[in-house]
Amino acid sequence: MIKDFTCVVVGGGFAGIHALKAIHKGCQKGLNGRKLRLFLIDQGSAHVRKVLLFRPAVSGESITVPWEQVMPEGTRFIQGRVTNIDKESKLLNLEDGRGQEHRMEYDVLVMAVGSVVRQAAPEQGGISLTGMEAAERIRERWQSNLRLAAAETDAQEKQRLMSIAVAGAGITGIETSAELIYAMRAEAGKLRLDPEHIRVHLFNAQDRLFLEGSAKVGKRLERYLTELGIVLHQGRRALKEEQGQLHFLEGAPIPVGLTVWTLGLAPNPALLNLGLPVTADGQIVVDESYRVKDAPGIYGIGDCAHVVDPASGAADRMTCKEAIPQAARLGGIVQADVTGTPAAKHRSVNEGYTVGLGPGHGLVWSRAWGMDLMITGKLAYKVKSFMWNYSSMVR
Ligand SMILES: Cc1cc2nc3c(=O)[nH]c(=O)nc-3n(C[C@H](O)[C@H](O)[C@H](O)COP(=O)(O)OP(=O)(O)OC[C@H]3O[C@@H](n4cnc5c(N)ncnc54)[C@H](O)[C@@H]3O)c2cc1C
Repeated sequence: MIKDFTCVVVGGGFAGIHALKAIHKGCQKGLNGRKLRLFLIDQGSAHVRKVLLFRPAVSGESITVPWEQVMPEGTRFIQGRVTNIDKESKLLNLEDGRGQEHRMEYDVLVMAVGSVVRQAAPEQGGISLTGMEAAERIRERWQSNLRLAAAETDAQEKQRLMSIAVAGAGITGIETSAELIYAMRAEAGKLRLDPEHIRVHLFNAQDRLFLEGSAKVGKRLERYLTELGIVLHQGRRALKEEQGQLHFLEGAPIPVGLTVWTLGLAPNPALLNLGLPVTADGQIVVDESYRVKDAPGIYGIGDCAHVVDPASGAADRMTCKEAIPQAARLGGIVQADVTGTPAAKHRSVNEGYTVGLGPGHGLVWSRAWGMDLMITGKLAYKVKSFMWNYSSMVR
């Protein structure tokens, strides 16, 4: 009897769920007569729409999707954390929610364990937007600050409680501050506070916004955020929030009710203990078809992998717009490797970004033929919303 073909995807973020779909589809073409058994392992109880992390920080909206909704038919889900991989025997170790260890065999193992959000050190105060629990704490804090402001008679203290800082002005910092100013103004109105007194400070350690793209787009974003009422501090690195004051290397501190740190992404530190080859930055080393070096049957994609375009030598960044095309290509690669046919090679996606700028507003940028193409306003928000939904397979 021919043994079933066991494919395990570890991590049900954007890369993982799109890889499941692509492998399921790719393997319909045949696996040398073997039947596919597809598994998803994730430590979480649902898929998290990570790109919308700022939403629970401004409203009570849920950003999770049940696993059944994102897994192809017949896929089995196992909740647990992969803790070790035996490359030679093709076995992995898995720790379930009760701390119990299990072993599992695989023929193909797709590592898609992603990244973690960088955290400010505890002594820096404030709250880092690292996950849903942190997002909820952020919302509770600014809402309770506004309630305190409504009862406050001292004008300076009232203004401090109506002020918030976002430290880190990458796309997440931009999206978070734009969403916050709308939500805080709406809440201030309900509490009979003057919405015009809401202050959202956005701190950028760099001298301009949007280093991922052109200076022209950075300027456009600056103008938009300023018109929205966000106080933009460029070339200014926040150091720590202490006793209601946000401190800097130079200049006087600024009174704030809360500092939200949005410091970007780092590869999942769990990768360092799995026995796979990693780069100095902690990403898995893979070849041009996402195969992990010296680890037969193991592939790495998404934020956890160091993926390089063989033609240009450029490395993909940690974005879902890059992770999803990698996942889509992987289905055919797995099928080709099993059947011994030539496999596709990685190619970078076109340069481009979509940025949400508060409810109903956005900016879409792409570069083609050396030119900056930009769409702003409602249409851009529609494109952004489509991307958010497509990434998490929400219809
Ligand atoms: C707030 C925010 C906004 C963003 N906005 C954008 C955007 O606008 N556009 C864009 O392109 N990108 C954006 N990104 C980046 C994007 O979210 C990542 O590039 C994307 O999530 C990468 O997908 P992934 O599947 O590789 O990893 P992740 O989404 O990090 O998923 C990893 C999965 O692996 C699981 N996992 C981790 N360790 C283990 C383990 N040991 N065992 C089992 N399971 C494990 C986790 O639970 C998780 O489900 C944003 C990120 C954040 C945080």
